[in-house]
Amino acid sequence: MLDRKTLVLNRSWRPITTTSVRRAIVLMARGVAGAVNPGTFEVAEWETWIERGPRPLGSLRAQDFEFPVPEVIVLTQYNGFPAVPVSFTRRNVYRRDGYECMYCGKAPGLADLTIDHVTPRSRGGGTHWLNCVAACMRCNARKADRSPTQAGMALRKAPAAPRWPGGLDPHSLEERPVWHRFMPANTPGAR
Ligand SMILES: [Zn+2]
Repeated sequence: MLDRKTLVLNRSWRPITTTSVRRAIVLMARGVAGAVNPGTFEVAEWETWIERGPRPLGSLRAQDFEFPVPEVIVLTQYNGFPAVPVSFTRRNVYRRDGYECMYCGKAPGLADLTIDHVTPRSRGGGTHWLNCVAACMRCNARKADRSPTQAGMALRKAPAAPRWPGGLDPHSLEERPVWHRFMPANTPGAR
């Protein structure tokens, strides 16, 4: 339970990250965060929360102490909005590119999607955000060991390193529908 995730909002109620329930409780106990009731948007500070916080995720018991698990907390001081680099993974490249082939523009489905090195590895192209794009198997095979110019295949969009607010992992957001109420429409992963 302590390793479950809690959504963290800054002082302006913008979601900035997720943290463990353990850490969320520490922040509340230190008085720098309040728990948000996702149903009513009421904010409860430590004392109130312990007494009558909602318990949709159950509660923690330590000695004779029962504590409702916060799903969302809001920071009382911090108002920053850190943009944290997204970790470079195959899946995140697909997400950045909208699961579409960056050459033909089709969305072939996961089974037929692959990663294309814009400058082929055999020509010194690295495996990183700026040199990797989603491509369908067909375009990838057609391009083969050539640069886009050599292959006469234009990229639809220059690849860039994405940054997600607070490093929010869209995957984790999808798991918790209640968090969607706190997502600005343009946050990746929001529905
Ligand atoms: Zn294609």
